Amino acid sequence: VKHLVKHFPGKKKLFAPPAVVKAVNDLSFTIGKGTTYGLVGESGCGKSTTGRMLLRLIEPTSGEVFYQGKDILKLNRLELRQLRKDMQIVFQDPFSALNPRIRVGEAIREVLDIHSIGEPNTRREQVYELFHRVGLNREQYDRYPHEFSGGQRQRIVLARALAVDPGFIVCDEAVSALDVSTQSQVINLLEDLQQDLSLTYLFIAHNLSVVRHIADKIGVMYLGNLVEEANTDDLFSEPLHPYTQALLSAIPRTDLNSKRERIVLSGDVPSPLNLPAGCVFHTRCPAAREQCRQEAPPQKNVPAGRRVACHLY
Ligand code: SF4
Ligand code: MG
Repeated sequence: VKHLVKHFPGKKKLFAPPAVVKAVNDLSFTIGKGTTYGLVGESGCGKSTTGRMLLRLIEPTSGEVFYQGKDILKLNRLELRQLRKDMQIVFQDPFSALNPRIRVGEAIREVLDIHSIGEPNTRREQVYELFHRVGLNREQYDRYPHEFSGGQRQRIVLARALAVDPGFIVCDEAVSALDVSTQSQVINLLEDLQQDLSLTYLFIAHNLSVVRHIADKIGVMYLGNLVEEANTDDLFSEPLHPYTQALLSAIPRTDLNSKRERIVLSGDVPSPLNLPAGCVFHTRCPAAREQCRQEAPPQKNVPAGRRVACHLY
């Protein structure tokens, strides 16, 4: 992903210039094949918009997105159709993603039909196989979505995404609505599927502790900007950006000799309609100084293998 930008037109007002919502600003990152990239930040920071742009469900304002060497923003219609199969997205609310009047087995079979996957007379078997992959059983084929728990519904949605044999899946808050023990079951399932099917994930979450287990690399977003990126272990052992430090300090810790104190950020996230000058985080940063109000900090590769956008480094 190179220099990705999304600006939406804001509401029109009398006697004022048209407003622009700066949802995503100059975002660049790379997801290694077969790995998981965790994209983290508070709601409204632009992470879902980013996920949708990677699938071209939202058209970027500018920038480039390469998938297997091809700029997906320049594909023709046929290539885009293929891409739509190869890239899938799973959302937070599996209930709204499933038609309540269609039996879950049929909902998956429909996908196989639409894409002419396998022979028509073996499709029921194929659905059983997909059920098996995600930990459901064949007796559940004829049930309706409301007969399942939230975690099971997310398994059904995953089975449907897997039906087209994708290479890349965006999980947009895919486990956020589930209770903690169901969360870890679904995350374990996602990891098993990644191993077995060599899948690549963009895993979007507002909570750092959710991505810790699954992400190889983490990007932290604030107000449409990537403020820090590091390998998961490095980020957790030594968060560099003051915003990452605050997010991490909010996670309850069980190790008693931890000296990390809770950092409570003052104020609200400013509106993406009216981004602060200088560093976008300066209105809430405990370490802000005069320079931060004037100059936007450039991204630095300090230390090697990491990126941080902050004047402290
Ligand atoms: Fe805080 Fe300044 Fe760093 Fe921004 S650049 S995160 S305001 S210290
Ligand atoms: Mg979101």
